[in-house]
Amino acid sequence: MESPNKPRHLKNTRFTKKKVERNDSSSGSEEDVEANKDKKNNVPCTSSTSSTCVDAPTDFLENFRLHIPNWAGLIQYRDLRNVTLTNTCTIDNFLFALWHLSKIKPDSFEETEPTQEIVGLKEIVKLIDIHKWNLAKEKWVNNFLKLSESPINKTISLFGSEKNFFLNPLKKIQRHELIQLCKVECIQNANLIIRDDSEEIFLKKIKKQIVVHSCYTDRCTQCRKKSSSFIRFYKKTRFIFFQSADPNIFIKDLPDQLTIDNEDFKFLCSTVYTSRHFISIFKINEIFYKVDDLDKSLVALDEKISSAYFKKPTTVSLYYKD
Ligand SMILES: [Zn+2]
Repeated sequence: MESPNKPRHLKNTRFTKKKVERNDSSSGSEEDVEANKDKKNNVPCTSSTSSTCVDAPTDFLENFRLHIPNWAGLIQYRDLRNVTLTNTCTIDNFLFALWHLSKIKPDSFEETEPTQEIVGLKEIVKLIDIHKWNLAKEKWVNNFLKLSESPINKTISLFGSEKNFFLNPLKKIQRHELIQLCKVECIQNANLIIRDDSEEIFLKKIKKQIVVHSCYTDRCTQCRKKSSSFIRFYKKTRFIFFQSADPNIFIKDLPDQLTIDNEDFKFLCSTVYTSRHFISIFKINEIFYKVDDLDKSLVALDEKISSAYFKKPTTVSLYYKD
């Protein structure tokens, strides 16, 4: 897979950008955000406040927009203060996606015996929720990333792949074994562990269908039928990151729902790379939205105007248990 990506262009002006309408006139500064937060987000949605709830989708989207990360960061790295982060698109998209998940499915981070990763993610998501993006990224870099190089000129670049900077630190969450599927009559069918301790899960396009792919193809040693496999998680997970196995899976190819280990997972977002930079595409109420940390923009994708984005290959997709 082609590796990413230091952005060369700060803005892509080829497409009409339609900023999502805001219903206030604030500039979106941190102060404004803080001031608006109480006004907008803490309104309980009950039948007695039904008039407030008419605008709920707009408010929801507005709140979504207000939480979009900035491409960069300023953190304390171990004992070194004021370290600049650059090329953060490798982490921004999915940290933001996990925050979004915490809004639409709050119990996604609630587990009776949470792993270290889930505990850490929950803290990060809370920081994002109060607009402390720098602290959120600081936690990610210090607690999740095992950086091999020290900062240069007090700068850490996260230039590279989503796999290195985002997926690998979380891969334990989706540890699984692969179980063989061959002939129903075969003694090894659904019975034989063909690989344990796997962590990566891929999507592959086969005959225009998107399938969960384990990269395993071999013949069954018993029945000699060409076997496939299914995934069994060691510990149930509430969300799964799928890597696109080939650069031929486009946003509209992705099914709304995937069943894996007997559970249904719903599509949340994918990343695509464009102009040597990762952006994300979310699906909210049947509309695709492009999120770009470079200009903190949220753009509703229109089939005609934004068709180019529908033709960019996806790199990683996030699905969650609804
Ligand atoms: Zn068999």
